[in-house]
This record gives sequence, structure tokens and C-alpha cells, in this order.
Amino acid sequence: MTVRDDIKMCDLLQPYLQQHEQIHAAMAEVMTATAFINGPQVGAFARQLEDYLSVKRVVPCGNGTDALQIALMALDLEPGDGVIVPAFTYVASAEVIALLGLNPVLVDVDPDTFLLQPEAIEEAIHYYPGRCRAVIPVHLFGQSCPMEPILQLARQYDLYVIEDNAQALGARCQLADGKWYATGTMGAIGCTSFFPTKNLGCMGDGGAMMTQDQVLGDRLHRIANHGQRVKYRHDEVGCNSRLDTLQAAILSVKLKSLDAANQARQQAAARYDALLADCADVLQTPLRSTDSTHVFHQYTLTLWEGNRHGSDGVSQRDALKQYLQERGVPTMVYYPIPLHQQPAFKGCTCIGDLPVATQLTQQVIALPMHTALTQEQQMYIADQIRGFFGR
Ligand SMILES: *Cc1c(COP(=O)(O)O)cnc(C)c1O
Repeated sequence: MTVRDDIKMCDLLQPYLQQHEQIHAAMAEVMTATAFINGPQVGAFARQLEDYLSVKRVVPCGNGTDALQIALMALDLEPGDGVIVPAFTYVASAEVIALLGLNPVLVDVDPDTFLLQPEAIEEAIHYYPGRCRAVIPVHLFGQSCPMEPILQLARQYDLYVIEDNAQALGARCQLADGKWYATGTMGAIGCTSFFPTKNLGCMGDGGAMMTQDQVLGDRLHRIANHGQRVKYRHDEVGCNSRLDTLQAAILSVKLKSLDAANQARQQAAARYDALLADCADVLQTPLRSTDSTHVFHQYTLTLWEGNRHGSDGVSQRDALKQYLQERGVPTMVYYPIPLHQQPAFKGCTCIGDLPVATQLTQQVIALPMHTALTQEQQMYIADQIRGFFGR
């Protein structure tokens, strides 16, 4: 087998093989105890994640999308209230807003970091005076949004901050007090996903909300459990969103190696940076914010001319994707369509024309990124990219 035969976009098998004994033991314990729903492992995992993040409360739930939905439900928003969300993100961030009868207010992002900018929040507030009640900074690809200015604006304009931390669990952001805070713990509520490919993934669906406010934590827990605190007494309309006991048991094992896994991703990213350093005229490797660490859920390149179409009508970005595919290098485009161009979000409030989000969907390409990526594989990948650009 040659190098090119074994390159994966994301490798879920290696981490499993490395920990399979602990994972099987943890699962066997659940299966013999048979408390498949709300077993003791669910609370145990929540407490472990609280310690890891230094947050008062973690409330597990069914998946990351549910986490965002329940977070919005817990904030007493009124139908039609505006919720600011970047146009360049996974659909879940905005979907839950619309689903609850709230109004997604789509804003543009920073071309270098792909993240929500504080200026965009101010623009949205001025465009839609008095109607924006919340903002969802998405810590896209593994790096924190600039939370200090975002939190300041939120205080100034009385906005709830719900962090979409599905891609950045384990990242840290520095605030004005000089301290580094775990992403997901700075806003009113943080939301995350344990989808298998996320930095902390389970073996099915899973998610969690986190908050420093115990009263809000109780409310989140209640909403995720049919709006009940006492069985068969329903204080408000909630939903059914639970983390399976089996998944919680698996996550407790995997949480122990989250930092090591994130370090492996950071090392792989540094190797890509070095290998592609001579391509700066044709592409940009991921920029690191100074106030955030980066846990590289994705390693995303921006091709300067990625949106330029060749004589065959294929864009440079799509041509590179095809070229790499033919040479055994899988890549992905996160995300190929900005939210404002999705039929589902037609007629949404947009702040300006969202040129950056639109352009990024045509220029970005994500390279293989996981904890088992070898230097040899990365050298091969970089060689193919250089080959495409004729160098
Ligand atoms: C994965 C993801 C979600 C949703 O998580 P699910 O567990 O798949 O529901 C939400 N937001 C972002 C940014 C994500 O990457």
C-alpha cells in the first residue's frame, strides 16, 4: 500500500483502536446495569466536562442542534425577535432560530478568520434597531470568535450571547482580564455537539449546553426533559433531548484524551503551514487570532483565485478538489453555499450583501485533518497541491 491509498479526511478508527479496551469496559458496565436512559454515567460525564471547562453547569442533550434550540428556548425571546448569526456557518446555527419563530439576522464574517466580527453586530443593531435580542458567535473550524468585543457589545445593547462551540471544544480565548477562558463558557450559554467527527465525538449523536448560571442551567435541564422538574409535572413546554447513557460512558473515556487529540491536530496544522509556506501567492493557510487558541476541527485553505473559472467552466477551487481526489487526497468544502443563498432562508434579514461569506464559499477547501495524520501523508498532500499550481 502506498501513501496515497490510506489518506482519510477524518479518521475515526485509529482513536477507537487506541482506546477500545476502556471504551468496551465502559459500555459493558452500562449494558449490565441496563440504565440506558439517564444512567449515572450521564451526570458523571457532565461533572467531568464542567471540571475540564471550568464552568458551573453542563447540561447534556441529544445533539448540537438541540443544544442551540434549547438554549434559545431558555431565554424568553418573543416571536420575531432578531438573533444575529453569521451567514458562513453550518445550517444548524441559523435553523433553530427560524424554527422557533425568531428572525435570523445574517451578518458577514472576517475574511481571514472566517469568524463573526464585532462590527457586524453593531451594523445589525443599527439596521434593525431594538429588535436584535441575541447573537450566536460560531467558533468556526476550531478558533474562538473575538469574545471580548462581542461581550462588550452584548452588554451595551442587552443581547444574549449563545456560543456555538460545536467545532471548538477545548479552545481558549483571552478576555480583557488577561485570563484564558474555555470557548462555550463566556456567553450566557454555550452549545456543543458530540457528533462522531467533532473534536470530542461519541459513537452516535450527542450534545451539551454549558452555563455559569445555575438558574439558567436548571431551566435548560428542565426544557430538555419535557419541561418537567418533577415527574409528570410540566412547568413549560419543553422537548425530549437526552444524551444516551452509552454515549456518556464513551465520552468520559474520550474526554481524558481531548487535550492530546487537540495537540495532535495543532501539530498537523503546523506541519501543513510549513509545507505550504511557499504557496502564499496562490493560497492562504489558516490565520491564528492572537486572542484565541485553535483546535483545528478543520484546516481550511483560502485560494485567492478559487472563484475564478477556467475555460472549461470549472472554478479553480473545484478543479483543485478534483485534482486531489484523483490522487487519493480527499478534501471537503465547508461550506459551499452561504446561508442567505439557501432556499430555506430566502427572505431572511441580511445585513448588507454579505460579500465575504459569498466569496468564501467559492474559495475555501478543507484538507484532511485528524489525530492519526502522518508527516508522510502531509508531505504527499502538500506535494500534490504544489503540483496543481505547477511548482
Ligand atoms: C456540528 C455542528 C452543529 C450541530 O451539531 P449536531 O450534533 O450535528 O446537531 C451546530 N453548529 C456547528 C457549527 C456544527 O459544526
